[in-house]
Amino acid sequence: MTVQPFGLQPEIVANAIPADERVWVPQADNVWFRPLLLNTVSGGWCNLLRVRRSGVLSRHRHPMLVVGYVIKGRWFYREHDWVANEGDFVYEPPGETHTLEVPADCAEMITFFNISGAMIYLDEYGQQTGYEDVFTKLEMCRAHYEAVGLGASYVDQFVR
Ligand code: FE
Repeated sequence: MTVQPFGLQPEIVANAIPADERVWVPQADNVWFRPLLLNTVSGGWCNLLRVRRSGVLSRHRHPMLVVGYVIKGRWFYREHDWVANEGDFVYEPPGETHTLEVPADCAEMITFFNISGAMIYLDEYGQQTGYEDVFTKLEMCRAHYEAVGLGASYVDQFVR
């Protein structure tokens, strides 16, 4: 038997795209996230972002790194000349401000994101309009799961 250290947190294994639609947490009109890991120790989270509309989603800055993997569809940042396509890996450097946009011909985009620290939302002048961190995400999940009948504690399985 392999001996594990005392205090070890349990692993998480889950089908990333859930069979139960209620697991997707609404974030904005036709935008949802599916929590996979809410990391309250070092601060950050892993989720799937699902978008079923085109146009600008948000302008944001993150003080720490973000990595992503495009599962379906495509998107781009206005500030860059590349498009993240299905199957692409993306690294976003700490400190960068960018504006996420889904092209008009993309009906659905799903991307896995591992976000460290926080997302800081900015207006067109670079002034902060809001932020998200693991605790705001956790609260959104709790409220949504309670409202759809899964119970607020449904989110506990994703929290470490
Ligand atoms: Fe970003």
